[in-house]
Amino acid sequence: MRNTDLTVCRESGPREGGAALKNVYFVQVNDFYGGRKSVYLPYAAGCIQAYCMQDPLIAERCRFGRIVYCREAPDTIAARFDTPFMVLFSCSVWNTEYNKALARAVKRIWPQCLVTFGGHNVSSDFTFLEENPFVDFVTHNAGEEPTALLLRSLLLGEPPENVPNLSFRTTEGRAVTTPILPQAGSDYPSPYLTGVFDDLLEDRYDFSVILETNRGCPNACSFCDWGQLRSKVRLFPLERVFAEIDWIVKHKIEYVYCADANFCLFSRDEKIVDYVLKCNKEYGYPKIFHVNFTKNRTEFVFDISTRMVSGGLAKAQTVSFQSMDPRVLENIGRKNLSPAHFRSLMRRFNENRIATYSELILGLPGETYRSFCEGMCSLIENGQHFAVYVYPCEIFPNSEMSQKAYREKFGIGTTRVPFLLMHSGAEPAPGAVTEYVELLTSSASMTREDWARTYVFASFVQGLHNVGFTRALAIYLRYAQGVSYLDFYEGFLSYAAARPGTRAGALYAEILSLCAGVAEGKNAFMAPCEGTNDVLWSFEEIVCIEIARDFKAFYKELFAYTDARFGGDPVLPALYRYQRDIIKQYGKSAVEIKSPYDFYTYFENVYLGEPRPLEKTPVRIALRDPCPVDTLADYAREVVWYGRNRQMADYTGHYYDITYEKLSSDSEYDP
Ligand code: SF4
Repeated sequence: MRNTDLTVCRESGPREGGAALKNVYFVQVNDFYGGRKSVYLPYAAGCIQAYCMQDPLIAERCRFGRIVYCREAPDTIAARFDTPFMVLFSCSVWNTEYNKALARAVKRIWPQCLVTFGGHNVSSDFTFLEENPFVDFVTHNAGEEPTALLLRSLLLGEPPENVPNLSFRTTEGRAVTTPILPQAGSDYPSPYLTGVFDDLLEDRYDFSVILETNRGCPNACSFCDWGQLRSKVRLFPLERVFAEIDWIVKHKIEYVYCADANFCLFSRDEKIVDYVLKCNKEYGYPKIFHVNFTKNRTEFVFDISTRMVSGGLAKAQTVSFQSMDPRVLENIGRKNLSPAHFRSLMRRFNENRIATYSELILGLPGETYRSFCEGMCSLIENGQHFAVYVYPCEIFPNSEMSQKAYREKFGIGTTRVPFLLMHSGAEPAPGAVTEYVELLTSSASMTREDWARTYVFASFVQGLHNVGFTRALAIYLRYAQGVSYLDFYEGFLSYAAARPGTRAGALYAEILSLCAGVAEGKNAFMAPCEGTNDVLWSFEEIVCIEIARDFKAFYKELFAYTDARFGGDPVLPALYRYQRDIIKQYGKSAVEIKSPYDFYTYFENVYLGEPRPLEKTPVRIALRDPCPVDTLADYAREVVWYGRNRQMADYTGHYYDITYEKLSSDSEYDP
C-alpha cells in the first residue's frame, strides 16, 4: 500500500513560459476502521480541488499534490511537501487538532507557505484566525468558491478582500471577515469523475465514499451547523449522480454514505435508489447505501427504505427523534412523528421484518432526568424494543447552540473531552494527536449530576433492553403486571446501586464512574473494556460485555431483584429460564430451549403491536448457532459490535433460523 508519496503531483496545466508551477496541497485526514483496512476518500478536499482545477488560471499556474488523508507524524508529512505555495486543511471534529499540528510543522519547515483552514469545525468569523497565528486564511461555509477565488486573487497579486466567505489579516495585521454570501452552484465538478482520487486508489484500501445528490437543508435544528444556514437545497444534476454511481461500481466501492441531509425529500430520489439497486444486483456494488431520510414524507420513506432493505442495500432503517419532550423539541427547532404515527410505522416495519433504530440526544435544552428517561421508555412502549441509540450532545462551532445568546438563554454548561471514535484502537495510532469535542453536560433544567444519572440510565436500558438481556422479562411484567419500563429499569438500577458488592452493583458503579467522568471532563465517552481486543467501546456496549463475562452471576441477581419486587407470579420461574436461555453465550453452539409456556409467540405478538395473552402450551425451540464464539473477545466483536443491529445476542431474533414446535402434551415437556 502506498500512502506517502506526496511528490507524485498532478499537473493541472502546462507550465507558463517556463515559470515554476505553484504547488498546492490539500489535507483531510480521516480515521481508519475495521483494523486499518477501510477509510473514506477525502471527499470535501476532493470537491474543492476539482472545482479549483476547472479554473483556467489556476489550472495553468498550479500543480496539485497528492491529497493527504492518512495520519502520520506531522513533521514527516510537512517535510515531504515540495516547496508548497499553499496547504489547505479541511476541519471536522475528528481532525482539527491534527490539522493544527501539521500546519505548525508546515510553517516551521516552509515559512513562506500559505496555510488555509476551512470546514465544519472552524468558526464562522475570524475568531479561529485570531486563535491560531499559523493560519493565514479561513474559508467559511462550502469551500469550493472562496478557495478558487482566493487562489485566483493570490495568483493575480490582488488583495483578498473581494473574496466573499473569507477571513484573513489585513496588511496592518488585523483579522477581518469578508461578507458571508450564500452559494448557489449546483454544477460543481465531481472529484470522482475528474480523476482527483485516481492516485489514492492505488493504495488499495477498502475505500468508502461520500455521495452528494444535493446540498443544503431548509431545517433549523439548533444543534446542527446547517441549521444556521437554512439554505435552499441545490440539486446536483442526475446525470452526474448516475455517473458517480458508475464510478463507484467500476472501482468496486462497497460502502456509500449519501450526505444529503434529507434523502427522499425529492421524488427523483426514487430513481437514484432504483439505479443503485440495479447496480448492486448486476455488478455487486455498492453493497451498502447509507442515507439520512427526511423526517417528512413517511409513506415515501417507508416504501424506499423497504426496497433498500429487501435489496440488501441497507441493514436497518432510522426512525429518529432527538427528544420525546415537546418543549425540548421546540427549543431545538425540531418536530417529531406523533406517538400514534410512530407506533403504526413501527408495526409495519416489524411486520415486514425490517430492522429499525431510533436515536436520541442526551440532555438537550429543557430536558430533565425524568423527561429523558420517560421519553426513552415511551419509544420502547411504542414498539422500539431493539435499537435506541443515545448520544451526548456535541456543540458544533457554527450551530445556533454554540452562540452566546442561546447558551445563556438555556443555561448551557459544557465540558471538553477527548474525541475518540467508537471501536477505534485503544492505543493511540502513529502520528496521533488528541482531538477534543465540547459536550453539553448541564443546562438550566439538568444539573451535571443529573446528566450523568441520565447517561447511566440510557446506557443500561440500551444494553439490557435493546440488546435483549432483560427484554423478555421487562415486557412480560409490563403486560402481565402493568409494571412500566421506567419502573422496572429504575428499580433495577437502584437495587444494583444499593449493593456495591454484587456483580450488578459493580457494573453500576463502573458505568456511573464513566458517565460522571464525561460530565466532569475527566474521560471520553468511549472506553476500553478488559480483555476485548483493545478497541474502545460505548458505555452500553460495556454493559453487554460485562454481563457476558459474568453471565450466571448477573442473572442470579436480576432474578433476585425481580422476585423481591414482582415475585409471586407462577409464570416467573419459567420466564427466568427462558430469558436466560435465549441469550447467546460464548462457548455454546447447539441450543435447545424448552418452556411450559409459548413465550416465543407471546413476544412476537408484542413486537407486531398485537399483544395477546400468554398460552400455557409447552414449546421447544432449537437451533444450531451459525456463528458460535469461544471467547469473550470474540463475543464482544461479533455479537456486541457487529451483531448489535442484527439482534445477534438474542436467539429468538431475526438473525437465527430456529425450529419452533409446540409439544403435543405436557408429557413431552421435560425441562
Ligand atoms: S440536523 Fe439534519 S435536518 Fe437538522 S438542520 Fe442539520 S442537516 Fe438539517
